[in-house]
Amino acid sequence: MLHIQDDVPEDAPAPDATDAPEEEQLAPYLIEAARSSRSKCRTCRRKIEKDMLRIGVLLEGPYGTGYLWHHLNCAARKRIEDVEAAYEQEAWAEGVKVPPLAELQELKEVAEKKAADRKSPPWAERAKSGRSKCKHCDETIAKGDWRVILGREVEFFGQTRTGPVNIHLDCVAAEFQAEHCATEPEEFEAGLRANSADLSEADLKEILGAVGDLG
Ligand SMILES: [Zn+2]
Ligand SMILES: [Zn+2]
Repeated sequence: MLHIQDDVPEDAPAPDATDAPEEEQLAPYLIEAARSSRSKCRTCRRKIEKDMLRIGVLLEGPYGTGYLWHHLNCAARKRIEDVEAAYEQEAWAEGVKVPPLAELQELKEVAEKKAADRKSPPWAERAKSGRSKCKHCDETIAKGDWRVILGREVEFFGQTRTGPVNIHLDCVAAEFQAEHCATEPEEFEAGLRANSADLSEADLKEILGAVGDLG
């Protein structure tokens, strides 16, 4: 449960006494330098030091309406859509110096790359762009389509290494037959479940169904 009462009232913008309408409408986003060190980042759970840039995401809950705060950089890594929306709305007061959006998008790319490096196949995800190719058939994977990441052995200066490769759902069964496939078909389903925590049971069913019988 969210306890927005804890930290919202003190940090919420003070209503303008002179000309505020009765019910002050808060914007969906607010980027500002933290006015105190009392707020906590909802992404990394650490304190947001005074004067650090933070982004508030408006939450309308049963206990009231207020901003949930994130370090601006943390939000860029984990919820770039909110940051992009906030930039579109120029959701900051005059005089607040915000970094270029491209810099924040770069943070996200780097964070994603790092996360992918830490992960080990198999896992499944939706293609974030239309730029990736299936290593099995060499055809493009359409944006938003599922792709499965399997391990593949590659020769690299005489050494065999295993690296992650993107595979179409339709191509997974055939890829498993290839000699260079470094993921075991028997481990596929369990691995997918273990490594794809962000997938729902329905997603997993869809993926496993499309991949078909691996035996
Ligand atoms: Zn943070
Ligand atoms: Zn393919």
